[in-house]
Amino acid sequence: MLKWDDIETVLLDMDGTLLDLHFDNHFWLEHLPLKFAQLNGLTLAVAKTQLYERFAKERGTLNWYCVDFWSDTLKLDVIALKEEVSHLIGLRPNVAPFLDWLSKSSHTCYLVTNAHQKSLSLKLKKTGIDQYLDDVFCSHDFKAPKESQEFWFRFQKHTPFNNRSTLLIDDSDAVLKSAQVFGIKHLLSIEQPDSHISPRVAGEFTAVSCYSQLFPLP
Ligand SMILES: [Mg+2]
Repeated sequence: MLKWDDIETVLLDMDGTLLDLHFDNHFWLEHLPLKFAQLNGLTLAVAKTQLYERFAKERGTLNWYCVDFWSDTLKLDVIALKEEVSHLIGLRPNVAPFLDWLSKSSHTCYLVTNAHQKSLSLKLKKTGIDQYLDDVFCSHDFKAPKESQEFWFRFQKHTPFNNRSTLLIDDSDAVLKSAQVFGIKHLLSIEQPDSHISPRVAGEFTAVSCYSQLFPLP
């Protein structure tokens, strides 16, 4: 159990942390390639090869997370395609009771995501998690991804928090590393971001296997 008395501010990532990453993995690795293949008269295998190469070039940048960038680049409506498989958007186990507990505690709790505003609204509409949060922040509004130091400087200037009493939970080691360099003291990773992929082997950061470990269950 965390020492909650040492923590004032909780920063929570969305995809793979609060929400099952299965939706995103299925969308980018299967559904989008299928639609791209159909629209361009390609086999699925060729479409996947072409798209995966393009994805690899943008990984970790703001473009990688940008719905408008991919809609323009691939000449298709990414959000309309996401809506087609939006039944796969769902919370990870015990997220709702964890957020409910947090919202009733004295901690300030923010969602801080690299997801594009349009993906964010689709996911908030589907899950309602914003009801538990003090505020929701999107790295696109700070013109830098969470993997960069610029993001953390701009975000803290906009919304002050004390590094020493802040907890970040995020399934991305690159983001946790960036937050660590910035000086955020309490950092937790996620053991199984995608329910359809086996849990990850232990990495540099302590990983949460289930949110029930983090708070006293009612
Ligand atoms: Mg994530």
